[in-house]
Amino acid sequence: MLIESKLPEVGTTIFTIMSKLALDHHAINLSQGFPGFNSPKELLELVTTHMRLGNNQYAPMSGVPVLRQRIAEKVQSETGISYNEEEEITVVSGATEAIFAAITATIRSGDEVIVLEPAYDLYVPAIQLCGGIPVFVSLNMPDFSVNWEKLKSAVTKKTRMIMVNTPHNPGGYVWTQEDIDNLASLIESTNILVVSDEVYEHITFDGRPHLSLMTHPVLRERTFVCCSFGKTFHVTGWKVGYCLAPRKLTEEFRKVHQFVTFSTPTPFQYALADYIQDPSTYQSLPKFYQQKRDLFCEGLETTDFTFTPAQGSFFQLVSYKHLSNESDLILAKRLTTGHGVACIPISVFFQDKTDHKILRFCFAKNDSELFEGLNRLIKNPIF
Ligand code: PMP
Ligand code: GLN
Repeated sequence: MLIESKLPEVGTTIFTIMSKLALDHHAINLSQGFPGFNSPKELLELVTTHMRLGNNQYAPMSGVPVLRQRIAEKVQSETGISYNEEEEITVVSGATEAIFAAITATIRSGDEVIVLEPAYDLYVPAIQLCGGIPVFVSLNMPDFSVNWEKLKSAVTKKTRMIMVNTPHNPGGYVWTQEDIDNLASLIESTNILVVSDEVYEHITFDGRPHLSLMTHPVLRERTFVCCSFGKTFHVTGWKVGYCLAPRKLTEEFRKVHQFVTFSTPTPFQYALADYIQDPSTYQSLPKFYQQKRDLFCEGLETTDFTFTPAQGSFFQLVSYKHLSNESDLILAKRLTTGHGVACIPISVFFQDKTDHKILRFCFAKNDSELFEGLNRLIKNPIF
């Protein structure tokens, strides 16, 4: 039987490839972005408690009411912005589902969707499955800020959506108030919607605040803000996230969500509802990760790589452009198999696989693992 692929160019994701290579070669895995340490014990115990209490059947489609209410309280206290828990907040199985559902609910064949590159791997396939046309706009190098002139000139009558990611994976760039104002004025008089991927919302450094797109009134009314508890509480395997969007957009969003997963695992939702009542659980995150970023960067100083410390996210980029012409994919594989340290080549985040000679390392690991990874990079000459 002939199967005509709907995604002919898509293979296995780089995260799966590099994690497997790391495992096969006993390498320190600084490739795929997931914490190398366990989630807080109290949160784990809450899950067990809720399982024992019998909270094990389907959760309501939009999420358990107490979690939606606590999300609304959290958002209100952090940003001053209100979202109605009945009509504007949906609990989903990870930000992946949120982004997929937002795109599927709104993008039709022929719609143009602007993707700022480098971009997280899920955006483009999701757009293409809807018949949408991704329009690529490259971010400024080397800081991954937005090139507003380029973005403006990419907007056409067919533009239906702009994909935003702040703090940015892999670049670490954190949107400023000026970025938010620029986006709002660019789309104010259009029908353009926004997906704002804010999964690293609690991981910003050097006192830099995360500014959510919801804080601008123009953007509040046309944005799907997609968040993930996975990054915030070191539980990426639970796949619990949420989407904040105005009522009309949420209505459409839930039409897709209810047929993709219907609902998200119940005991996790109750446990998170209890846990997020204490804001110190996520407010301590910038300090926690900044120590790791600084430790990692200090070690990198003794290598020949060049880098600028990340503004946010748990990824650090390094450049080797001045050292070698080797492709980033080959180098990432060579570091994994030869030096015992796995990383991600960032060319995979570009549609045309542009090779800027930059590697991404995940520093969400125990200090001992980071030290060992650094040692391996320092001990044996790379080039
Ligand atoms: N967006 C970005 C930028 C990510 O890095 C990730 C995963 N790490 C996701 C979305 C997916 O989040 P989740 O695991 O909650 O589906
Ligand atoms: N978001 C993670 C990263 O950027 C990967 C998640 C996944 O493997 N899908 O490394």
